[in-house]
Amino acid sequence: MRYISTRGQAPALNFEDVLLAGLATDGGLYVPENLPRFTQEEIASWAGLPYHELAFRVMRPFVTGSIPDADFKKILEETYGVFAHSAVAPLRQLNGNEWVLELFHGPTLAFKDFALQLLGRLLDYVLEKRGERVVIVGATSGDTGSAAIEGCKHCENVDIFILHPHNRVSEVQRRQMTTIFGENIHNIAIEGNFDDCQEMVKASFADQSFLKGTRLVAVNSINWARIMAQIVYYFHASLQLGGPARSVSFSVPTGNFGDIFAGYLARNMGLPINQLIVATNRNDILHRFMSGNQYVKDTLHATLSPSMDIMVSSNFERLLFDLHGRNGAAIAGLMDSFKQGGGFSVEQERWTEARKLFDSLAVDDAQTCETISEVYEQTGEVLDPHTAIGVKAARECRRSLDIPMVILGTAHPVKFPDAVEKAGVGKTLELPAHLSDLFERDERCTVLPNDLKAVQAFVSQHGNRGKPL
Ligand SMILES: *Cc1c(COP(=O)(O)O)cnc(C)c1O
Repeated sequence: MRYISTRGQAPALNFEDVLLAGLATDGGLYVPENLPRFTQEEIASWAGLPYHELAFRVMRPFVTGSIPDADFKKILEETYGVFAHSAVAPLRQLNGNEWVLELFHGPTLAFKDFALQLLGRLLDYVLEKRGERVVIVGATSGDTGSAAIEGCKHCENVDIFILHPHNRVSEVQRRQMTTIFGENIHNIAIEGNFDDCQEMVKASFADQSFLKGTRLVAVNSINWARIMAQIVYYFHASLQLGGPARSVSFSVPTGNFGDIFAGYLARNMGLPINQLIVATNRNDILHRFMSGNQYVKDTLHATLSPSMDIMVSSNFERLLFDLHGRNGAAIAGLMDSFKQGGGFSVEQERWTEARKLFDSLAVDDAQTCETISEVYEQTGEVLDPHTAIGVKAARECRRSLDIPMVILGTAHPVKFPDAVEKAGVGKTLELPAHLSDLFERDERCTVLPNDLKAVQAFVSQHGNRGKPL
């Protein structure tokens, strides 16, 4: 399988290189040159497979030529073996024909484990083979950091540095990062905000001289392998609900457009999907595009669903590329005008094409709390605020009651106790067994000033399993 850039200028890469790449050299994102397509009979024959075996069948075409089948199978069995639920991604019924796909049974209790548990293992496999080491420098406002650290903690060939804004992540989120020890794990609390952290990561990708030749790898959802891993659970949910003979709809709590883009790919690979709902919080750039063909930057609002607090959605470029007939020059032009003027619209027929599949809704904090409390009263289930946004959007935007509606349950409610309490849910939530002593564990973290040079010096001093690069 070869991968090409959405801006048409960077060289095509194979899977191994795309795994180790960040942005393409032309500023674009990598996508498969040709998407695999499965027949209905083939998909139907996968019903009842354990999650890791389904994952093998769905992802195999993407890694062909880079990872032999037997090795890939073994990696997938290990990856999904660490999940706490034997179904890995169980479906829970909320209402007639309305389901939550619980994606929060991984080590850090959010869906990001599906991709980052795999990414860590794939990196280690490929690096071992090449005899190389890499450094990861990532910024987090919450869920990505802990999932990346959990995913990479056993990697022999990876040193990981996660930057979070000092005193500005929740205690559960901080402890999920700082209580994991290893000579290759480095938590850095920056005396600044999340944007400061992200800027430092961007600047480090732009000029990597401080790494003395060691490669820097991206763990955010611009990394193709993360999107790839997320395609699988759309197939998994559909097969549980009578697919592919029956079509299914999905509502997806959305920030960077990574998770929902994986659903779009599942459909293009042959899975019958009737409708994809983009559910956003008040940071609604995607809702403004889907409802009015305006992709325009707004100011950032802090919400009760912090993992969706974004101003721009990086993976949206991947959808735009398809909507424009995979014309890289057109995308480079759009992104340029976005950078210059802060916004754009697309031609009417391209927007209409997108709307055949996608609907959207923006949900504010008050509605999020209302939904948490409504669902609790109806079913006794406690939703996390991100999932609640997905439920609200599903109920408002649903096109057909006859088609099963699956809401992606992106996080466990125990990660977001503030929202649950604001919603008036009286029930005390307990941490799952593997995290039950989280508040008693020791923490390890280095506080650094909001200064790029200081952070880069720290990385180069500790980037080789705690020793200098
Ligand atoms: C990351 C995250 C999201 C948003 O996913 P995208 O792929 O960025 O759209 C939604 N909910 C939770 C809990 C998350 O951690």
